[in-house]
Amino acid sequence: MSTRTSPRRPGWAVIPIVALITAGLALGADRLVLTGARVLAPEGDRWLAGQAVVVEDGRVAAITPAESLGPAADTQVLDLNGLSLIPGLIDLHTHLLLHPYDETTWADQVLRESLGLRTARAVTHAEATLRAGFTTIRDLGTEGAGYADVGIRDAIELGVIPGPRVLAATRAIVASGSYGPAGFDPRWAMPVGAQVADGVAGVRRAVREQIAAGADWIKVYADYRRGADARATPTFSQAELDALVDEANSAGRPVAAHASTDEGIRRAVLAGARTIEHGTGASDATLRLMAQRGVILCPTVAASEAVSKYAGWTPPEPEPARLRASKDLVRRALAAGVTIANGSDAGVFTHGDNAHEIELMVGSGMSPGGALAAATTIAADVLGMGDRLGRIAPGFEADLVAVEGDPLADPSALRRVRVVMKAGRVVMRRPRD
Ligand SMILES: [Zn+2]
Repeated sequence: MSTRTSPRRPGWAVIPIVALITAGLALGADRLVLTGARVLAPEGDRWLAGQAVVVEDGRVAAITPAESLGPAADTQVLDLNGLSLIPGLIDLHTHLLLHPYDETTWADQVLRESLGLRTARAVTHAEATLRAGFTTIRDLGTEGAGYADVGIRDAIELGVIPGPRVLAATRAIVASGSYGPAGFDPRWAMPVGAQVADGVAGVRRAVREQIAAGADWIKVYADYRRGADARATPTFSQAELDALVDEANSAGRPVAAHASTDEGIRRAVLAGARTIEHGTGASDATLRLMAQRGVILCPTVAASEAVSKYAGWTPPEPEPARLRASKDLVRRALAAGVTIANGSDAGVFTHGDNAHEIELMVGSGMSPGGALAAATTIAADVLGMGDRLGRIAPGFEADLVAVEGDPLADPSALRRVRVVMKAGRVVMRRPRD
């Protein structure tokens, strides 16, 4: 983002998009005016026609009837005729340091891939995410890649590499013996793809270490598959989870809890976790508890679908239990009044396909508008950034995405991204098909 102080002179500068792109990422004008698109209303429920969006200094300055704009100095016009303009999308559950498990198993990525290779991949993943219209992500754990997410976050912020805004969770916290790579003889002390901590003092210390290393969020695994039967069971006691959340919150860091068992979810909710990741085993009573406490669910349906495919499921075969459970959870959570936010678990599957989660939420009973809100206004609120992200409104960051089609009617429109702007800079322009 740049700040500019040159005086205004009369006259429009209408620049062809091609020139704009070949000129690089930055736009030199004081103002950029986006015309021709229908604009998603700040409430996110309808389109505004005939409106121009004025961008100044990286933020939306005004949404105003196109014909009301007089000529102004150093104004460039970006014609988005026929496109739909939505706020930059938000994915609350990504793993930039992972790539799809059908390319390399999770365990081999953790154990065999060098940190350099994994970081280099993550750089390309960040760019693919941004080009898909996702301008903000919460990256929920590096899976053995240490604090590399913090470096990537900072490199993006400094403009060294392109990518979305990153909220980094760093290493994630797991209890002893409850995380992988697993399945080795107990004689061997194997590396673990997260930070191991036990006891109230241990989890407090782990939170402190991660915050010192740059964590914006703390991720905890409240349950996991373990032991001979590899059945998921709660891993941390209530006292441990209470201490972990207390320590994180006292430093202003919210907690995201991986949990798929009813008891693991219940403990995380009681401890004060802000979001539950996956959540498939939640009973209706626990879902009601989540609704009461305002705890958000990220159902990660796309991850369930991807893992099902890796295990051999091929549509149109009947959906396997894991995928059915995720879709059913969305329906049950909606019925219980739980707020659902968009978190795809990209990394398990291809970065840049993040919008598939929105499609799957719609396929699980959410309205297209509701699923879009889950990836915009609701996700921004979860991040505590609802006053500057997730809406097209004056004063908000100019994170803007132009898509072909109507995502309030059909979420697949989110796959047809034509222009991406982050903080007032055009970062991607793709010609129409
Ligand atoms: Zn994940």
